[in-house]
Amino acid sequence: MEKLNQVLLKDDIRVGADLDAWLARGGGEGLANALQDPHVIIAEIAQADLRGMGGAGFATHRKWAPVAAAPEGDKYIICNGNEDEPGTFKDRFLLEHTPHQVIEGALIAAVATRSNHVVLYVNPHQTLALAVTREAVQQWQAHALFAAVERIVGRSVALRVVPSSGLYIGGEETAVIASVEGGFPFPRRKPPFPAEQGVHGAPTIVNNTETLAHVPGILRHGAQWYRDLGLGDAAGTKLYSLSGDVLHPGLYELPMGTSLASLVFQHGGGMLQGKEFKAVFTGGPSNTLLTKRDLDVALDFDSVRQRRSRLGTGAMIVVSEGTSIVRKVAEYVSFFAQGSCGQCPPCKGGTFQLMRLLNRIDTGRGVHADLEALENLCRILPGSGRCGLIDGAVTVVESSVNQFRDEYEALLMA
Ligand code: SF4
Repeated sequence: MEKLNQVLLKDDIRVGADLDAWLARGGGEGLANALQDPHVIIAEIAQADLRGMGGAGFATHRKWAPVAAAPEGDKYIICNGNEDEPGTFKDRFLLEHTPHQVIEGALIAAVATRSNHVVLYVNPHQTLALAVTREAVQQWQAHALFAAVERIVGRSVALRVVPSSGLYIGGEETAVIASVEGGFPFPRRKPPFPAEQGVHGAPTIVNNTETLAHVPGILRHGAQWYRDLGLGDAAGTKLYSLSGDVLHPGLYELPMGTSLASLVFQHGGGMLQGKEFKAVFTGGPSNTLLTKRDLDVALDFDSVRQRRSRLGTGAMIVVSEGTSIVRKVAEYVSFFAQGSCGQCPPCKGGTFQLMRLLNRIDTGRGVHADLEALENLCRILPGSGRCGLIDGAVTVVESSVNQFRDEYEALLMA
């Protein structure tokens, strides 16, 4: 039996917008520690090996350090709660049930970097999360701890909620910045990175909601405590969004590094009755598919990468034998095609063409030339966009063709 360490989702900290209830349960202690010694915050985050939980798994302290080192002036902390990927539902849950944990994490980031703008960027389609976050923000603004944050930052802090566009692409880091500036969420090329040139040219940190939710615990209990929550070399806990053909789909907070088999068969209750495990679309789903061969993989950023896939957001969409991989991929690529912002012609045209070919094959109207065209697009499209959308769409197509080629070929007309 693997250990189960809930930190973010413990029953007693699901207090909604009630700040007093959050503080009565040990909330605020991490922030109080941070206020006492702001100079050690980033080192503590580094020692904890806190990674970005929105997809890339980038070391959090490496985003924070350059903003802390930037000269005095406007600086932004943005909590990215756009969350619009199929199969991912962790950030919404956090904002609905424990928004103060997220806001406290963002305020600790503000203290560490002397940032005077803290933005909760929330998907407007998640109406409850938006309402609860707004109420929670108002409560912090009136609290003495918030005044203490402003004293350390050395100026007034604008803590506010900004509804996102609600578009999938609106969650991309540079699109978040464009949106907070009031524009359409067009991604832009990096560099410059947000830490150098973010909102209105100011140094900016864009952190995923779950990433920030981990911060108060680290500052409250220490980096070693956090590291010890993980399995093997992995640190902390992770929210896994489990869905698809399993008995108990849902949101699971488990030690980072929990195996795929344990998530699906132990915590998720196994496959639906009469179904056999076939594959998993991970974290997006814009990554290489995991299959039966990967059931032993530890679900942490580095281990999943060693299988040439990515943990992404921690979403695991489980597919059973008998379910058409081609149809699932066609659905996801259709989602990406509709989500393309249209700035880069290869992305707009490429995702549309991938979708068209997949639909032809899926509906039995495809021929060998269509499969060849699909593979050809997978060779030429990567790297042709300003952001990672096109690469993600190609990855899932390419991976499905490589691993389930027989399914594609069986659908082709002679
Ligand atoms: Fe927009 Fe696609 Fe270009 Fe990304 S790659 S900026 S989604 S057109």
